[in-house]
Amino acid sequence: MPAPSDTQTLHDQHGRYPEATTVEDFRHNLTVIQARIDAACHRVGRDPATVRLLPVSKTKPETSLRLAHAAGCRMLGENKVQEAHRKWEAMQDLTDLRWSVIGHLQTNKAKLVARFAHEFQALDSLRVAEALDRRLHLEGRSLDVFVQVNTSGEASKYGLPPEEVPAFVQALPAFSALRVRGLMTLALFSSEAERVRQCFVLLRSLRDRLWQSAPAGVGLDELSMGMSGDFEIAIEEGATVVRVGQAIFGARPLPDSHYWPGEPSTEESQP
Ligand SMILES: *Cc1c(COP(=O)(O)O)cnc(C)c1O
Repeated sequence: MPAPSDTQTLHDQHGRYPEATTVEDFRHNLTVIQARIDAACHRVGRDPATVRLLPVSKTKPETSLRLAHAAGCRMLGENKVQEAHRKWEAMQDLTDLRWSVIGHLQTNKAKLVARFAHEFQALDSLRVAEALDRRLHLEGRSLDVFVQVNTSGEASKYGLPPEEVPAFVQALPAFSALRVRGLMTLALFSSEAERVRQCFVLLRSLRDRLWQSAPAGVGLDELSMGMSGDFEIAIEEGATVVRVGQAIFGARPLPDSHYWPGEPSTEESQP
C-alpha cells in the first residue's frame, strides 16, 4: 500500500476531465471518486463514512445537474449565489435536492442565500454573518456555515488569515440562525503536493487548537478541504467534506480565476 506522503496532486488534469453526459457517466464518475475516497481513508486508518462528497456543479447547465441528481446526488455546491439561486428556482420539482454555497458572498446577496441555501461554506466576515443572520430570521430559517480560512497566504484568496480565526469564532454565537459546523479552505493550486498538504495541515491544526476554546453551540467537527486535484491529500489530513466538481461533471471551459471573482489569474494559481 502506498504511503500517504506519496500521494500526488492531479492539478495537471485540470481542464481535461471528460464531460459527463449521461446518468451512467455520473454513476461511473461517482463510483470512481468514492473508491478513491475509500482508498485515501484506508491509507490513514479512517472510516470512509466520515467523509462527505459534495459534488460541485458551478457553470454546468441544468440538464447536467438533473443527471447528477438522477445518479444519486442530493446536495450540490455552487460558488456564485445568483447562479445557485437561479438553478434552485428552476429545479423546485426536485424536492430532495439541497444547495451548498461555497463561494465568497457580498453582504447585499445575503438575502438570496438565506432564502434557499442549506449550507454556506465561505463565511469570512462579521458583516456577512450579521446580514445572513438577519435575513434568516426574517425567513424563519437557519443555515449550516463553515468559516473560510486562507491557508495558502495568497493575497488573491478569500478567507480569514489563520490568526484572525479564534476571535472570529468567539463572535459567532451572537448569530443564532447560523449553525457553525467547521472550517473550510482552498489549498494552494500547485503541483507540489507537499506545499498543498501544508495548507490542509494548517487548517486541521488550527481547528484542533480552537476545539478547546470554542464557545458553546459552535461546532468545529467539519473540515471542508480538497477538490478534484487534491482531495485525496485533504482526506489524509483530516477532511470531512471534499468539494469535487470537474472529476464528476467534466472540465470547465475557462480557468478557475474566471469563476472565483476578484481573483487575479497569477502564475502561482494557474501553473
Ligand atoms: C469550483 C470549486 C471547487 C471544485 O473544484 P474542481 O476542480 O471542479 O473539483 C471546490 N471548491 C470551491 C470553493 C470551488 O469554487
